[in-house]
Amino acid sequence: MKKLELHWKIIIGMIAGVGIGFLAVATGQQQLVANWIKPLGTIFINLLKLIAVPLIIVSLIKGISEIQDISKLSRMGGRTLLIYVFTTVIAVSIGLLVVNTLKPGKRINENTRQELLDNFGTDASSKITMASEAKNRGPLQPLVDIVPDNIFAATTDNRNMLQVIFFVVLLGIGLILIEPEKSRPVIGFIDGLNEVILKIIDLIMLTAPVGVLALLASLVVESPSVDLFKALLSYAICVVIGLGLMIFGFYPLLVKLFTGKSLKFFFRGIAPAQLVAFSTSSSAATLPVTMERVTEHLGVDDEVSSFVLPIGATVNMDGTSLYQGVAAVFIAQAFNMDLSLMDQLTIIVTATLASIGSAAVPSAGMIMLVIVLGSVGIPEAGLALIFAVDRPLDMLRTVVNITGDSTVSMMVAKSLNLLGEPKVKQWDDNYKK
Ligand code: ASP
Repeated sequence: MKKLELHWKIIIGMIAGVGIGFLAVATGQQQLVANWIKPLGTIFINLLKLIAVPLIIVSLIKGISEIQDISKLSRMGGRTLLIYVFTTVIAVSIGLLVVNTLKPGKRINENTRQELLDNFGTDASSKITMASEAKNRGPLQPLVDIVPDNIFAATTDNRNMLQVIFFVVLLGIGLILIEPEKSRPVIGFIDGLNEVILKIIDLIMLTAPVGVLALLASLVVESPSVDLFKALLSYAICVVIGLGLMIFGFYPLLVKLFTGKSLKFFFRGIAPAQLVAFSTSSSAATLPVTMERVTEHLGVDDEVSSFVLPIGATVNMDGTSLYQGVAAVFIAQAFNMDLSLMDQLTIIVTATLASIGSAAVPSAGMIMLVIVLGSVGIPEAGLALIFAVDRPLDMLRTVVNITGDSTVSMMVAKSLNLLGEPKVKQWDDNYKK
């Protein structure tokens, strides 16, 4: 019998999780889910996060040391960052186009607005406080933040991925610059370790169907009332349309135009990572899976993927920037504020920067949204308006975030002649194109 592919197993896990969640709500067994099922989801996320930092360290050192040439490294770095900024700007612009056309904020009446502000005001203000810490720092602070003063401290917090990347890039450059005789044993060791880590990821992924089942079941049990969802439906639809245009329009177009690969090939390769992103709401937690899928199934050389993807997971968040654009305009509309063209352009710039600054963890995009709101004078308390539907939208924007990273890694690989056949050979020939 043909073995069921991983993404199908994950989808079955997701459906079962949602089913169990609804069943628990209907029978009043929420506590049972919280006690016996949720922990399995937490273990799954922990396993992914556990392997994320070692994976970044080892694969990035391996990737850079294999390049063996500083000018090639800077070419790859320059190209990567440029395409990342380009896709992010397109994403916010798509979001703004959708929200300005459909005007979901105009559908919120005075009563609903007040109800949302009352219900979620406290939740929102805690996010606002978190954001104000980020806002009160000087303009060069983000640069300072990238350079760690203690690498061990940096590796102990998954939010400091950029610091880890900075240190590891330095290490990789050092390895290129020393005598090959001296670097060989270090590279050999790292190479072996890389294989071990990839094997561990394979093992973790065997538990993915159960992990996502548990995550979704507990999410359904914990979600807020359906009535508030309804009030925010048109806003949520705008975000979903925008994200859909990215996933089914923009990225496939880029893949087809720049790499010539078919969409079936692309989606089949990346689907398990998208499903994990959806279930965990964290690009950082999904990174091990994204790396595995992109190298093994999409044919991106690990020289490229090990450099482009960890950086992408931290700085390239197209879904987040799109959502921030839509949310900002929605809140402005709900407060009857008119935004000028200049305001909208400011939103494009600040949402691009805010998405770069968002950590790759659940709801980080919402914290940074405060900065976007502040830049055009939209009341920050408006965050309370969108709170109720943030989690499902976070799940979807995380899917877009990792799909964007994967697309760019294919483009960069192609441009450097490093896009080959997938390593996994048991594919049907029709998917090979
Ligand atoms: N959860 C998103 C991610 O990890 C970030 C966000 O938009 O909140 O990619």
